[in-house]
Amino acid sequence: MALKIHNTLSGLTEELIPGGIKKEIISDYPPVTIYSCGPTVYSYAHIGNFRTFVFNDLLNRYLKFRGFKVRHAMNITDVDDKTIAGAKKDGITLKEYTEKYTEIFLEDIKSLNIHPVDEMPKATESIDAMADILKRLEEKDIAYRKDGSIYFSIAKFPQYGRLSRLDQREIKSGLRYDTDSYEKEDARDFALWKASAPGEPSWDTPLGSGRPGWHIECSAMIRKIFGGTIDIHTGGVDLIFPHHENEIAQSEAAYGERFVRYWIHSEHLLVDGAKMSKSLGNFHTLRDIVGKGYSPRSIRYLLLSAHYKKQLNFTFDGLKQAEAALERIDNFIIRLNDIKNENQSNPEIDNIIMEFISKLTDRMDDDLNTAGALGVFFDYIHDINSIIDSNKISKNDAQKIFDAINRIDSVFGFIFYKDKKEDDIDPARIESLIKERAEAKAKKDFKKADEIRDTLQKEGIILEDSKDGTRWKKKK
Ligand SMILES: [Zn+2]
Repeated sequence: MALKIHNTLSGLTEELIPGGIKKEIISDYPPVTIYSCGPTVYSYAHIGNFRTFVFNDLLNRYLKFRGFKVRHAMNITDVDDKTIAGAKKDGITLKEYTEKYTEIFLEDIKSLNIHPVDEMPKATESIDAMADILKRLEEKDIAYRKDGSIYFSIAKFPQYGRLSRLDQREIKSGLRYDTDSYEKEDARDFALWKASAPGEPSWDTPLGSGRPGWHIECSAMIRKIFGGTIDIHTGGVDLIFPHHENEIAQSEAAYGERFVRYWIHSEHLLVDGAKMSKSLGNFHTLRDIVGKGYSPRSIRYLLLSAHYKKQLNFTFDGLKQAEAALERIDNFIIRLNDIKNENQSNPEIDNIIMEFISKLTDRMDDDLNTAGALGVFFDYIHDINSIIDSNKISKNDAQKIFDAINRIDSVFGFIFYKDKKEDDIDPARIESLIKERAEAKAKKDFKKADEIRDTLQKEGIILEDSKDGTRWKKKK
């Protein structure tokens, strides 16, 4: 079976074909290029934001599990109205302010066992790429200036509204347009570039000084990193309109080529059945919940337990159930560890493992159905527990079962979860990077091999090559 994902643009669940040209073997595909809208670093991110970020991580991990190569970027929005207002209020520079919240965000995602992405561009470091889009749109007469700001003229991009399927009349009447206080020719138009206001940070570009509108940031960073059409763009459903609609308009109008092949959107997280809001008292940051004694591990489990296209209702009862499910998994691991029987292998075990991996892959291939995959996993635990009860299992069998669970946990990331505060090192990840490096060397790709060594060195891991292979150790 092929991996299928729901594409918001077509409204269909489609086979993933990276690069747009079908290949017989997954490893022949070029790396899947993914861009995820990242956080605006003006405050602590809330649990709803983390549903999206955990989903991005799941997508990345599952693609690798299926043998795809992946190149994943997620931006940091470090300039907008909220960050500027926050820095002003705290009496520090925008850079100082956003760096503080970027650091907090990185700590939070690490505690949720979200793997680092390959690229994390910052909006303020991508101004040149924004200027390039502006220049092209001006040359094509799609952008216009008013009072020092630059706007996108939606009337000149007839495909506008295809992603969100908003009623054209609704867009035309300006019922739902991007709210900002600047002058525009048409209520639907949105600001690409904002005139510099006194006391606000601004950047000099060949097109004049000012600061970026939010939408252009993502279009620019995608162009800067990937150069052209990307495979997947992700974000929460609340970003479909106007943010993603505007990204498509700017990028396709500027460069005259398709922007994104697959748009994937994850649903809202409700809290106690309602939208999160400070006034309802149901607004939780990750740190609030951890402060109440719940582990990030159980939060990760809960966020992955529902299909990403379904609304998920977050409650503390749900979190307790997540803890109970994890306890069941932990008890199962303990039982496996306790098997000391040196007898011959039970031939049935191989079949059970094969069936388990194949069923779980089927569920996940079906638009990343994590709820179904978890069901398969608990059935598996149940079946193996019965075999342990009847004593028809050897130490060797237990090892095979461990190996299978390890593979599955490369996707889930909550089974062999360690509190990252105690130990930052993930041996499985290091081993897999060492393997990747050996493969690169074998292919005489020494640049890549050196990059991997340098990445690990930055994390305090030293590689030692010998004729028997590569060993690693922690820097003292
Ligand atoms: Zn974005």
